[in-house]
Amino acid sequence: MQKAKEILKKVFGYEGFRPLQEACIQSVLDRKDTLLIMPTGGGKSLCYQIPSLIFEGLTLVVSPLISLMTDQVRQLRALGVETAVLNSSLSEEAYEENLAAIRSGRARLLFLAPETLLKSEILELVSELKVDCFTIDEAHCISEWGHDFRPEYRQLSRVRAYFPKAVFLAMTATATPRVREDIRKNLEIAVSNQLIASFNRENLFYEVIPRANPAKQTIDFINRFPDQSGIIYCFSRRQTDELAEALQQKGYRVKPYHAGLPMETRAKNQELFIRDDVQIMVATIAFGMGIHKPNVRFVVHYDLPKNIESYYQETGRAGRDGLPANCLLLFGYGSIQNIRYLISQKTSEEEKRIATMHLNSMVRYAESHNCRRIPLITYFGQEYGESSCAMCDNCANPKVAEFDITESAQKLFTAIRQTGHRFGAAHVIDVLRGAESQKVLKFSHEKLSVYGTGKEYSGRQWNTLLGQLIQQDYLKQDHEAFGAIKMTPKCQDILNGETSVFGFFPPKEEKSKAVKKAVTAAEFDDSLFQILRRKRKELADEANLPPYVIFSDKSLIDMAARLPQNKEDFSGIFGVGAKKLESYGDIFLGIIRDHRSNLKVTAN
Ligand code: ADP
Ligand code: MG
Ligand code: ZN
Repeated sequence: MQKAKEILKKVFGYEGFRPLQEACIQSVLDRKDTLLIMPTGGGKSLCYQIPSLIFEGLTLVVSPLISLMTDQVRQLRALGVETAVLNSSLSEEAYEENLAAIRSGRARLLFLAPETLLKSEILELVSELKVDCFTIDEAHCISEWGHDFRPEYRQLSRVRAYFPKAVFLAMTATATPRVREDIRKNLEIAVSNQLIASFNRENLFYEVIPRANPAKQTIDFINRFPDQSGIIYCFSRRQTDELAEALQQKGYRVKPYHAGLPMETRAKNQELFIRDDVQIMVATIAFGMGIHKPNVRFVVHYDLPKNIESYYQETGRAGRDGLPANCLLLFGYGSIQNIRYLISQKTSEEEKRIATMHLNSMVRYAESHNCRRIPLITYFGQEYGESSCAMCDNCANPKVAEFDITESAQKLFTAIRQTGHRFGAAHVIDVLRGAESQKVLKFSHEKLSVYGTGKEYSGRQWNTLLGQLIQQDYLKQDHEAFGAIKMTPKCQDILNGETSVFGFFPPKEEKSKAVKKAVTAAEFDDSLFQILRRKRKELADEANLPPYVIFSDKSLIDMAARLPQNKEDFSGIFGVGAKKLESYGDIFLGIIRDHRSNLKVTAN
């Protein structure tokens, strides 16, 4: 382990291990087959990378996507680690070069697509080599219960016979207990060798606001992060295109990404994003799996995700570098109807039931006034011990149910009753507000005594109020009856005027009260940071690499905060190991020196 710590500092430039990294590395070095469950950004890669530099033999790494492999290989090579890769995207020449690096024993790691490894000539090749570690990244692909099942992954356990001495290391960020068990069974890993990290992503700020004017709300939000990378998730392809177009017209550097775009366009847009050439990706859920961009500072959900797991994974793409990042969900009742429609298209009743249940949990999450971390973390079977996290809207701005909403509740209940308990929220609210919609006229609801009695509030406000009454158990949405809003027996006392009901309902249009500014790291010189960023981009373009492969944002911030003067100072910067010091030390030290002397001149 002493050796492992030295490598951590010398090669990767990091001061300490993150939770479970040490335990996992120890387990691998002890040659115990290990299953590592760690959320996105937790630092799984280091758990095979460090042992690979200690083992005498080769470390094989199976990865499901070429983009993931390419990303790892770039980063390792930039750290001066000899790394080989074999997959179908390589030119013949590159393929041969990689083979040579493997045969000669120079390569410490070999990245492979599963189908490449399963080829007989490759199996023959690796069986002649000394393989010390066999790593399976994104191991949930083994399980049919996971969301990315890959049949070739199922065959990986068989491959092991070709290098029986190698230790197995399987890792994933997505694993419900069922998927975990599947992986363990398939790879024959003992429960005692399973390491599960906390699913709490401490650096993410979670925030939900009522979806009123989504385009404007999104723009207000992204304006808090000028020039910072982010992802906006939309429900449909059309919505994605439209929003991307609208943002482009307003001068934002954005690209769309969805499965309806040609393969090349998708690949191109993704690459532009990774290289910081566009700021924001507007995307459907088709985007993200192959993305290892560490400096995504925000994720917006323009529409409601289908379930908590998707929400967790999608927001999880923010803040991999450990710096604060923000996640905003725009929550409107219309999105629920969109998802319900998708659910109604499913063929099996069982599937419908499960999907509805997941949707209900998601809605409860959005409507909750409690800490947002609780439902996210408990979903993965873990407990959240803290009572307040300070990093979600509800904890940062605890709300008190201080408004007497009895009268409004009575109106709403009356409207539900008079319309016969069989309409969704939108229609009930139309009736209250005296709208002349087709549906109102069709059912002659303009004749009801309750019609038009709720003009004091906007539709949006009535929706908020309705959500609160659902949360307080006065109303429920009947998912079997197309989302009809029904009353529970609790309503009777309110209608009789026997009890009052209190809510969080501010009678003005709600504005997001959550933290106005992104939480930033320690004090640093922002103008210098911008100069360093520009230099990084220039170097990256010259080397045809994404900027973060040169240095992470965190490294640049550390430079702009500590203003290193010499190489010794510089090697103390976050993420600076021997190789980065050699490659970039002088360049960045020069810039920092110039910047300091400029400051002095201006001060004089
Ligand atoms: P995962 O595969 O679990 O999503 P990665 O292995 O890609 O996460 O790591 C996420 C980021 O955290 C990377 O930028 C990585 O360099 C960084 N990182 C990993 N371990 C440490 C550490 N001990 N100290 C500082 N940064 C780390
Ligand atoms: Mg990973
Ligand atoms: Zn909280």
